[in-house]
Amino acid sequence: MTPNARQPVLFVGHGSPMNAIEDNAWSRGFRALAARLPRPRAILAISAHWWIDGTFLTGNELPETIHDFGGFPEELYQIEYPAPGDVALAENVAARLADRRASLRLDWGLDHGTWSVLRHVYPEHDVPVVQLSIDRRLPPADQFAIGQALAPLRDEGVLIFGTGNIVHNLSHALGVGWRGGTPTPPWAAAFDADVARALEQHDAAFLVRALSTADGRMAHPTPDHYQPLLYAFGAADDRDAVQFPIAGFAYSSLSMRAAIFGG
Ligand code: ZN
Repeated sequence: MTPNARQPVLFVGHGSPMNAIEDNAWSRGFRALAARLPRPRAILAISAHWWIDGTFLTGNELPETIHDFGGFPEELYQIEYPAPGDVALAENVAARLADRRASLRLDWGLDHGTWSVLRHVYPEHDVPVVQLSIDRRLPPADQFAIGQALAPLRDEGVLIFGTGNIVHNLSHALGVGWRGGTPTPPWAAAFDADVARALEQHDAAFLVRALSTADGRMAHPTPDHYQPLLYAFGAADDRDAVQFPIAGFAYSSLSMRAAIFGG
């Protein structure tokens, strides 16, 4: 596809860090995304795993691959994703988000929410990547508004990429779901379906209050894996068709749904 064309917006359910090295339905799904996306000039990644107080951008020319997890096989800690950074893009985004006091930092890099997916989508690690932190202090409507402020970057060849999970209740997934054969619980299926419908209908009002519903509280005991979706959805506009190139559950309750807006 034409390089640097107006970019869609991408959200991916990243799931287990093991998807970085396993050949499974999810990693094959990540690999198939590249063919559905025009090649971006750069990627702005918003990961559930950079969930902090404040709005920051990675300002590194060569961002470090961060292995931000514990208890996994040694092989996973050896993975490097040496994509370049893009300091000019980081400064551009910081300027757009000046009202959020956005600034550059050098003490982060690419966390596994970003690289466990991108090493499948762009295995040549030849597209520059900048990460934008999630400001966990902000109400959902403000996180959505930050996404809206990012939307013009799409016309500059920048792929806005949210990475989290639409249903993410780790105590259920690790306590019950990992054994296999456990059916997806009704609250997980219902929340995943409600969010999918809201995305298709561009129902921002629902998405902003979704975690305050009974299913939303079960789906997200903590909001970190949901909030990348608000940033990504904010950058979509009402004319963007929505596709779900990946859907389904890992570990019974972990939604692996991915969305492309305007592809
Ligand atoms: Zn995660």
